[in-house]
Amino acid sequence: MSNTINHNPNTNTNTNINDTPTNTSTRVGPGGSTTGSQACAACKYQRRKCAPNCPLAPYFPAHQHKQFLNAHKLFGVGNIMKVLKHIQPCDQETAMKSIIAHSNLRAINPVGGCYRRICQLQKHIEQYEAKLELVHQHLNMCRAAARTRKP
Ligand SMILES: [Zn+2]
Repeated sequence: MSNTINHNPNTNTNTNINDTPTNTSTRVGPGGSTTGSQACAACKYQRRKCAPNCPLAPYFPAHQHKQFLNAHKLFGVGNIMKVLKHIQPCDQETAMKSIIAHSNLRAINPVGGCYRRICQLQKHIEQYEAKLELVHQHLNMCRAAARTRKP
């Protein structure tokens, strides 16, 4: 087949958007108690004591300083706190993942941000669909050839 599509999704920029707060080792979760003594990246930045129920600690552990800075730069801590305050606790993790992903992508690509990434992913889908179509066509040709060979 000469009309192959060379596409490797692994060549994309690593946006680190899958860095979820569940990977943290020093925190239990929103409202949970701390298991470490280190202040979260947000409290560290604001030079304040990180309370055991710090709402930002599950999402910005101490080692995620850059991730916090990205979110702070784009949204501001006050706005992030407002978002967390005005949504249901069950939605907070999704909202924070969205905020973090959005701000990380914006930091990587100050012009296109999320929009450019979405466009890239849509293009990948189109490429894979075209590739799948070619595979189906090839499969149909093979089936037709097999049918003609049968006695
Ligand atoms: Zn904190």
